[in-house]
Amino acid sequence: MSRTPIIAANWKMNIGPAEAKEFIAALKNENVCDICVDKVIVPPFVTIPAVMDALNGCQCIGVGAQDVSDRDNGAFTGEISTTMLNELGCKYVVLGHSERRQYHGETNAYINKKIKKALSAGIIPIYCIGETLEQREGGQLESVLKSQVVEGLADLTPEQVAGIVIAYEPVWAIGTGKTASAADAQAAHAYIRSVLAETVGAEAADKVRLQYGGSVKPANAAELMSQPDIDGALVGGAALKADSFAAIIKAAK
Ligand code: PEP
Repeated sequence: MSRTPIIAANWKMNIGPAEAKEFIAALKNENVCDICVDKVIVPPFVTIPAVMDALNGCQCIGVGAQDVSDRDNGAFTGEISTTMLNELGCKYVVLGHSERRQYHGETNAYINKKIKKALSAGIIPIYCIGETLEQREGGQLESVLKSQVVEGLADLTPEQVAGIVIAYEPVWAIGTGKTASAADAQAAHAYIRSVLAETVGAEAADKVRLQYGGSVKPANAAELMSQPDIDGALVGGAALKADSFAAIIKAAK
């Protein structure tokens, strides 16, 4: 099965509307449009309209949000709904990022509700999973990944699972400059795909795109993405500059 690589820039709480316009202009100058890789920018909510304006209808770069509510609308201060994301033209939403799990107490069960809500609105979830250093050193890597996959994707049909993106991001590698070796990353991705095959069947498992995330940069991107089960990258720090994000896109083709 050949899977189109997908590279996403998670800007986290960085880059306001004015800076975003400069970023998109610089990215357009990098000539990434013709590269056969799905490209996604995931700005803070308030920056999304500026990114859409700067893209000016250019379909080659998709836009995502960093979170979404599991509710429709109403008295949920600070929340953003799928309807609002659809109105802005967001195609993707990052869900279950380790920073949401760590600082906002998000659990697999809660993230599962958000995944279902996103899917029901036609928005593609980029579902983040990954172990902490303590869990890895304590021999819990596989059990943690398995529960994140099984609980986070509970009740989804094989067709729904086949269409989502899963980002494997070892927590100890996010923003630390430490990257999993290509072999360790591949082993984790292969394990995730095997759990998917057990839960939703081999066909859907084969279609799911699995990104690696955790200190991906131009220098290590090609080696990571040459692994058979790594279908792209979710990039934080190295995606804050257009030239470095473009270099990672070029490394994925
Ligand atoms: C992330 O936050 O998803 C991430 C992978 O960050 P970084 O690339 O900075 O490690």
